[in-house]
Amino acid sequence: MINMRRIAVASGKGGVGRTTLVANLGIALASLGKETIIIDGSLTTPDLALLFKLEKSVYTLNDALAGDATLADVMHLGPKRVKIVPAAVALEQVRRARPERLPELMRQVPKKTDFVLIDVPSGLKRETVSAMRAGREVLLVATPEMTSISDAMKARLIAEFLNLAPIGVVLNRVRREEFELTRGEIQTIMNVPVLAEIPEDEKVRQALKRGTPLLELNPNSPAANAIQELARKLLRGRGRVR
Ligand code: ADP
Ligand code: MG
Repeated sequence: MINMRRIAVASGKGGVGRTTLVANLGIALASLGKETIIIDGSLTTPDLALLFKLEKSVYTLNDALAGDATLADVMHLGPKRVKIVPAAVALEQVRRARPERLPELMRQVPKKTDFVLIDVPSGLKRETVSAMRAGREVLLVATPEMTSISDAMKARLIAEFLNLAPIGVVLNRVRREEFELTRGEIQTIMNVPVLAEIPEDEKVRQALKRGTPLLELNPNSPAANAIQELARKLLRGRGRVR
């Protein structure tokens, strides 16, 4: 329990690749032998469920948040034995869920668990705050542009207000174009380390289209390699604040 890491993965705004990262980082950690649970914090748009084709799941996080199921009931086994907690697609199940219960649901996480990754929904909704509060650390995701960095800064402020420790930024869809902010610039602006630079990689969208996670479909693609490297870094404790 002492060594369990609960990491909220947040970006401020959507569309930067947060869900893709949670899914594939979860698989990467699991394939390194770590007990890993990934949780869809966005109850109204269950993207993680879709990535794993779990949208037809009978039991979802929403049932657990409505008090109708336990966390164990709603954990689904994924690639490399990563445990996935999908949110519901059906409106009725969405309506009944009480997002503020997510932090207390964390007490049901099995003690042998090494990592819990939470996909934190964008914005400043009730769900956003609940998903953040389910974590102890926050990993920020952004693309290397000022608008995205500024959104990540806002997410970081909320996280720090909720007492989460910022462990670093993951830059996604890096193309190394002239107008992009550099790693150094971003570290200076955000005052946290850049833990990974995931390149723009067409295999990511290919995987989405095929309905197979990138790390399963193309484990040797540039983006997959960067995510695997990030997983190893997290294992070494790099970026760990407390
Ligand atoms: P978010 O959860 O932040 O809204 P998603 O993970 O759903 O973002 O990704 C948004 C879109 O960007 C998807 O179509 C996804 O396939 C694409 N994408 C994410 N990361 C990359 C990448 N490194 N290279 C290319 N496309 C990417
Ligand atoms: Mg998403």
